[in-house]
Amino acid sequence: MSLPAKYLKDCQIKLGHTLTPVTMPQYGFGTASPMDQLEITKESVKVAIKEAGVRHIDTARFYGYGKIEYIIGEAIQELIAEKVITREELFITTKVWPTYWDKAKESLDISLKALQIDYVDLLLQHWPFCYPKIVNPETGEWYGNPKDPKTGKVLYETEGDFFTTYRQIDAIYNDPSNKSVKAIGVSNFNVQQLEKIFNDDTIKTKPSVLQVELNPQLTQVELYDYCNSHGIVLTGYSPLGSTGAPILKLPEIQEIAKFHKITPYDVVISWFMIKKLVVIPRSLNPKRIATMKYYYDLPSEDIAKIDNIGVTKPFRHIDEDFAAILPGFTGRTKTTAD
Ligand code: NDP
Repeated sequence: MSLPAKYLKDCQIKLGHTLTPVTMPQYGFGTASPMDQLEITKESVKVAIKEAGVRHIDTARFYGYGKIEYIIGEAIQELIAEKVITREELFITTKVWPTYWDKAKESLDISLKALQIDYVDLLLQHWPFCYPKIVNPETGEWYGNPKDPKTGKVLYETEGDFFTTYRQIDAIYNDPSNKSVKAIGVSNFNVQQLEKIFNDDTIKTKPSVLQVELNPQLTQVELYDYCNSHGIVLTGYSPLGSTGAPILKLPEIQEIAKFHKITPYDVVISWFMIKKLVVIPRSLNPKRIATMKYYYDLPSEDIAKIDNIGVTKPFRHIDEDFAAILPGFTGRTKTTAD
């Protein structure tokens, strides 16, 4: 018996903590593409919007060392000119990189210019720490991930902390003249950091969205409960385990896919949709993207089996050296695959 299927494009989540009503498409398109794939990224974004009905694009100032936002801007403008889409039908997220920890407005303005739009639907603080501004003599720009040249260790700015940038984003949002941001949030924060924001009366607007690595191997149970009880929409990045999509190769996922005669990708995306999470997979395969239109009504036993992968095979796929400073980012949890 085949499972009932639903259109991904029909699913929207209403955000909490916004000044005006905002809804976020639950299924979005990730754009952290490798530097040598910029042209295909543009084509992929266009196919996602035009063929698969995607209405939510997740990007960041830092992706492609600042180049991806320009590519997305071109793709969107071409689709608007072709009358495939209007700006208002799209939900666009961008993020403030830690080098801009004290210049969130400047970062936002650069993003808007690159994306060729006059507002973003969601502005996130990318990471809960700050980087010093050290100029790379070869490019004349600040290093994205500054490191001590002698030790190779990541350098952090100690003038600010995880709170500094959020205060700036809160101020941008609550400026009476603000027309450039519809909702705000954070990424890579843990419960303790969220708790500080929620307990601070000087913060006018609490985060509407938390974006973290989340997939069947990293189910983020603590953050899931916290977000549910604080009106925060939880978004899972690297839902397929990032490059190479290792999550799709897990035998538990493959068995469920085989049983229901759907693909492992369908299984994983359906798990997110049924759990009322936002999911932002990336693909640079236009043929594949064009077919990504549905999710399936998996039975609760399958949802429980997928939840259990996070218990039996916990693994953090995005394990950047710069994140090691964060409480809760304790690096990879060993699995039997290691
Ligand atoms: P994903 O977990 O989305 O995995 C991407 C990989 O999956 C690619 O290699 C892709 O290959 C492959 N893939 C996609 N669809 C399929 C399919 N149907 N079958 C088989 N393989 C498939 O990776 P990301 O780490 O990029 O995460 C998604 C997005 O999350 C990012 O692009 C970014 O927008 C966001 N992100 C946010 C972070 C943050 O700090 N806030 C950190 C990391 C990511 P192919 O291209 O060949 O399809």
